[in-house]
Amino acid sequence: MSLANIFGLDRSRLEEFVLSLGEPKYRAGQLYQWLYAHRARTFGEMTNLPQPLRDKLAGSAVIGQLGVAASQSSAADGTRKFLFELSDGRRIESVLIPPRPTAADADERMTLCVSTQVGCALDCSFCATATMGFIRNLSPGEIVGQLFAAEAVSGRTVTNIVFMGMGEPMLNYDNVMTAVELLTDQTGIGISPKRITLSTAGYADRIRRMADEDRKIKLALSLHSLRGDVRTALMPITKKFSPDELLQALEYYQKRTRKSVMLEYIVFDGVNDTDEDVRLLVKASRRIECRVNLIPFHSIDFTGAGGRTASLRGAPPEGIDAFWKKLRSHGVTVFIRNSAGVDIDAACGQLAVRTTQ
Ligand code: SF4
Repeated sequence: MSLANIFGLDRSRLEEFVLSLGEPKYRAGQLYQWLYAHRARTFGEMTNLPQPLRDKLAGSAVIGQLGVAASQSSAADGTRKFLFELSDGRRIESVLIPPRPTAADADERMTLCVSTQVGCALDCSFCATATMGFIRNLSPGEIVGQLFAAEAVSGRTVTNIVFMGMGEPMLNYDNVMTAVELLTDQTGIGISPKRITLSTAGYADRIRRMADEDRKIKLALSLHSLRGDVRTALMPITKKFSPDELLQALEYYQKRTRKSVMLEYIVFDGVNDTDEDVRLLVKASRRIECRVNLIPFHSIDFTGAGGRTASLRGAPPEGIDAFWKKLRSHGVTVFIRNSAGVDIDAACGQLAVRTTQ
């Protein structure tokens, strides 16, 4: 008989589980506390449950945690990349990112960039994960498990989570939102929703859904261009949702949630850093309350990618600086994002599992 994995179940699913064992509903609340507030890894640790119940649980379920297959630390900035092995042998990566030592909250902030899928179907031309193709969605337990494992191995407390690792979170919406509910439950894991950011490649319909559901987490859009042809070449998803449809969805999101959004923009030399790009970004920033993050492009040569990907060149630092100045001079709230983990292929767009899946 295969044992049920109860790690990642929310309260209602835990209730179903305890009822299926013929136990009273309130046991689900106790299990919930042990799993998420106390982070128990075995039923033996659950000392307020009677021994016969602990035995029964051990005979019918497991607390499935992620195994760390490898981890690598950046000598340059302390970023740490984890390779996790899932129960079916698939592998994913997460990245623990310390703040810059000069940051105002350097003592306190620790960000974990988590994956939501094994691989990704979206084929963005600048992204290493795209070279893996889509393999499968992660369960809520596999998403939350990245936090537990990263904290256990590093000994650090994660304060912020970004859904910017492998995969498109909006294509695994239900599992991602269950994970968000577990992560933000103040009686369990207890991370503030204001410290969680979901980044999408541009699913306008799911952006509207997030707004309708009044999700408290923050939203980021991987924008990279507002010109339809350029964005389509960089991100084929643009054929489904045009830049204007995305801006309309963001307007809708803001009307409903009153929250500003982050626009992520990798600057490619001579591709999306023209005066026309400045004009369109300025116009968008007048339409939507946003902060634009300019991101240096990091090589993904290690994936052996060809075609357009091989020809993409990141703008040099002085080019990014010039683009930043132009945007700023027009009143755009714009920042240049610090590159973390480049030397261990852990920077934005560089996550890809090289071993055979
Ligand atoms: S950038 Fe994100 S959405 Fe695009 S292929 Fe990579 S993981 Fe998928």
